[in-house]
Amino acid sequence: MNAISFNKILNVVAKVNPFLVRSVSNVPKTVRGNISDQQNADETLSNRVFSLSKENQSVMKDKFGRVHDYLRISLTEKCNLRCQYCMPSEGVTLTPKVDLLTPDEIIMLARLFVCKLGVTKIRLTGGEPLLQPELNKIIGGLNDLRASGLQSIGMTSNGISLKPRLAQLQQSGLDRLNISLDTLREEKYSFITRRKGIKMVWSSIHEAIRLKMFPLKINCVVMRGLNDEEVVDFVELTRYYPVDVRFIEYMPFSGNKWKYGKLVPMAESLDTIQAHFRNVSRVENHATDTAKSYKVDGFCGSFGFISSMTNHFCGGCNRLRLTADGHLKVCLFDTNEVSIRDVIRNTQLRGQISRSKEIEKTISRDLESSVGLKDGLIEKKVEEVVTEALGKKFFSHGGRTEEIAQGKLAQGNRSMILIGG
Ligand code: SAM
Ligand code: SF4
Repeated sequence: MNAISFNKILNVVAKVNPFLVRSVSNVPKTVRGNISDQQNADETLSNRVFSLSKENQSVMKDKFGRVHDYLRISLTEKCNLRCQYCMPSEGVTLTPKVDLLTPDEIIMLARLFVCKLGVTKIRLTGGEPLLQPELNKIIGGLNDLRASGLQSIGMTSNGISLKPRLAQLQQSGLDRLNISLDTLREEKYSFITRRKGIKMVWSSIHEAIRLKMFPLKINCVVMRGLNDEEVVDFVELTRYYPVDVRFIEYMPFSGNKWKYGKLVPMAESLDTIQAHFRNVSRVENHATDTAKSYKVDGFCGSFGFISSMTNHFCGGCNRLRLTADGHLKVCLFDTNEVSIRDVIRNTQLRGQISRSKEIEKTISRDLESSVGLKDGLIEKKVEEVVTEALGKKFFSHGGRTEEIAQGKLAQGNRSMILIGG
């Protein structure tokens, strides 16, 4: 990005929202992280747990033939924002720390999913992933998996505390970034997120551009009467910002006061955008893409829709989710979950080590000494459980497509903050 385009950026941001203008024209050239440093890092505990060989690798296919090679891992249930669509106003009951996956367990599971089950793409989420104290270590551990077939390490963040950490995270191996931002207006931001911080989000977006973290996606949940009149402003932003704005349809989760009337269907937002910008073209998507992408001809960035509610993309679903408490979710809308954490901990401790209340402190020693790892038992058990769960995966919306079409709340699902988007 040259100085001229940065000046243009300043102009467009000034038009959309003057208070956000920052001096970004003098940013230095990007400092690209040296990923090979991480690849050459000392063999870690989790390296020893599963061999890096892709021999005997399985593919996770469901009964509809969909290959699942994308794993989203939630790193924490905590967050420094309280977005109305994600976090219930009364808050959520946090899982005790002892029942959350430890960084070692996360890396070990990621290794298993990549080396043995064919995962090629991992995205870290939460809660706010930056609140996981060992985020760098986790990304470094994932980076070691590139030689085993991992192609991308992404993160979805609210951007509040991202700027000062982004260069380091990139050096550790992070190569895909989504930043959530639902409004360009400061007061509305505070209303939606119940916290202040929009300027910090903007400085993180600028930092991501400076570091050339492309494609850089901006996630915007569109809600009627709240931010739906801003879709044109967000597209205007793509005139000079090299970002991909993704308008996400508002989805129902426990405690988020979802109503059908608050959902703005993709078709409606697209109509509004096309009425304003004459030259909108469709951008081709990959079969497994969640977004339907568009671009205003001549604009630097692009935009798209994640129309999970009105025009779902379940036919190409390749995603699995691992929650912070170690549960596997084969579909965001499916209320059934299976505890992979229990599988690994029970197998690992089987017949040998009595379960410690402070498992997070002893996990490394346990991992090295347990029977489960030495004879590949954990590997087999996890594979069995994942295969069984995938075998039960519904074609769409966790079997609740009718319910959702009738505008009914998906009862029984956890809050988004506890699942990880
Ligand atoms: N804290 C991070 C963030 O906000 O980017 C990551 C976790 S957040 C749960 C992941 C994504 O889920 C965000 O882009 C957020 O906007 C989206 N999300 C949360 N609740 C949603 C809902 N009810 N409908 C649609 N998207 C939602
Ligand atoms: Fe936190 Fe992200 Fe949920 Fe907002 S959407 S409350 S930032 S986890």
